[in-house]
Amino acid sequence: MRLRLHVVADPVGWLCVGLVLAVWLYNTLLVPSLVLLPHYREGHVPGAAVAGYYAAAALCLAALIRASTADPGRLPPDPHIPQSDNAERQDWELCNKCNLMRPKRSHHCSRCGHCVRRMDHHCPWWINNCVGEDNHWLFLQLCVYTLLLSFLTLLLDFGQYYYLQPLSARPQDGFASRHELALLRVSALSGLLMFGGMSGLFYTQMAGILSDTTTIEKMAQFSSQMFGSRRSWQSALAEVCGTRWKLLWLLPLRRRQPLQGGRYSHAHV
Ligand SMILES: [Zn+2]
Ligand SMILES: [Zn+2]
Repeated sequence: MRLRLHVVADPVGWLCVGLVLAVWLYNTLLVPSLVLLPHYREGHVPGAAVAGYYAAAALCLAALIRASTADPGRLPPDPHIPQSDNAERQDWELCNKCNLMRPKRSHHCSRCGHCVRRMDHHCPWWINNCVGEDNHWLFLQLCVYTLLLSFLTLLLDFGQYYYLQPLSARPQDGFASRHELALLRVSALSGLLMFGGMSGLFYTQMAGILSDTTTIEKMAQFSSQMFGSRRSWQSALAEVCGTRWKLLWLLPLRRRQPLQGGRYSHAHV
C-alpha cells in the first residue's frame, strides 16, 4: 500500500490535534488501568470487554492519524482535462486563485493554499487538514470511533462509580481511592465534551453525505438538485468510502478506490 503523506503547516492546528491526542492518551492509558484491568483481574469484567476497549482506542487513533496525514484530494499540477468531449469539459472551471483548471465542486482552501476536489471543509480542530474527496471517509471513521470510544469511557467512568467500585476488594475510602475518583471525573468531563462535540459533527456530516451536499455548498446554499443527485444512502456512502463492501467502510487501514472513476485525475490515499 503506497501512502502519500500530507501535512498542513499550521501551528494552531497542530496544537488542537495535540489536545485531541492528549485526551485520547489520558482515556486510553488511565481509564483501563484504574477500572478495566483491576476489575478484570478480580473477575468482575470479561476479557472481551478489555479487548473491545483497546480495539476501539486503536481504531480511533488509526483514523485520526490517517485523516490528518492523508491527501484530501489535491489536484496534480497538470490535471488531465478532456480536450474533445464538450460535455466533459463543462465539468471543469478555472480557479482564479491558483489559476489552474479544476473539476467542478472543487474548492480553493486558503489555509492549505491549493484547490481540493469535492472539498467539504477545512478542519483545524480535529485533524488540521482539509476534508475532501480522498479523505472524507477517514474523517467519517474518526467521528464514529471517537463517538464509540467516548461512549465506552463514559460507561466505565459511571460504571466504576455506581456499580464496579462497591464490588472491589480494595479499600474504598483511602487517599489513593479519592484521587482515582478525581482522575475519573476529569475523564468523564472530557468524555462528555468529546461525545457532545462529535455527535453534532457526525449528524451534520451524515446529513451532508446522504443529500450529496458538501458543508461549503450548504453554506453557499447550493442544493443536491443542482447536481441531479437522487441516490440511496448505500450508494452515497459507498462512493464516499470508495468501496461497495460495507464491512470495509469502517476499516481505516485500506485504500480508497473512486467508484465513479475516470472523470477526474484521482490521487488515491
Ligand atoms: Zn485554487
Ligand atoms: Zn485546507
